[in-house]
Amino acid sequence: MNLILMGPPGAGKGTQAQRLQKTYSIIQLSTGDMLRAEVASGSDLGKQFKEVMDSGGLVSDAMIIAMISSRIDQDDCKNGFILDGFPRTTPQAEALDQMLAEKELKIDHVIEMKVDDDAMVKRITGRFTCAGCGAGYHDEFQKPEKEGVCDQCEGGKFTRRDDDIEETVRSRLQIYHDQTAPILDYYKDKGVMETVDGMAVIDDVTEQMNAVLG
Ligand code: AMP
Repeated sequence: MNLILMGPPGAGKGTQAQRLQKTYSIIQLSTGDMLRAEVASGSDLGKQFKEVMDSGGLVSDAMIIAMISSRIDQDDCKNGFILDGFPRTTPQAEALDQMLAEKELKIDHVIEMKVDDDAMVKRITGRFTCAGCGAGYHDEFQKPEKEGVCDQCEGGKFTRRDDDIEETVRSRLQIYHDQTAPILDYYKDKGVMETVDGMAVIDDVTEQMNAVLG
């Protein structure tokens, strides 16, 4: 089964993708995570990505499409995949269709997570992650039980994304509405799109998704 999770930054695509990958034994492919790994490698390409990402802009379609195409060819995608953060523009959506047709694959479901922009700014600017195990936290909504200590691995080092500052978040939301939201109609026309309430609590959102996926 191949899925696309759609929704603005902060909608919870990553959180839900991690749950779905366990339930359905399919792999989460996050273009944001792939780009951040390249940035962390310190490569020249990573430096170029960082500049674009820190400004809240989008990396070039050609670069992203090539990256996803080679990732889908890897063995761990054989059972299916969840696209998180891709496609983000109409050319990406069209290229994805063509690429999948060439690989004799298709998208089975597109799930839109409907959320409120102002709530997203609050969600994103407060989020942080354990540097050791990747567990996610929030300054207000999900603090570690003991301040400064990860609930899961007891590590004491946390990180925040460089692009999770308010000004950048607002540009990322604007880009979502201008360039990414139009793709929703593209998938509606294909009859594969479903919408869930992304403002519900995390477990309820997962339940809504499970109902869609049967
Ligand atoms: P995300 O982790 O999905 O919020 O992505 C973080 C940043 O990575 C975005 O703000 C973009 O700069 C870049 N990015 C991620 N996915 C894409 C994509 N499909 N197309 C272009 N840029 C992307």
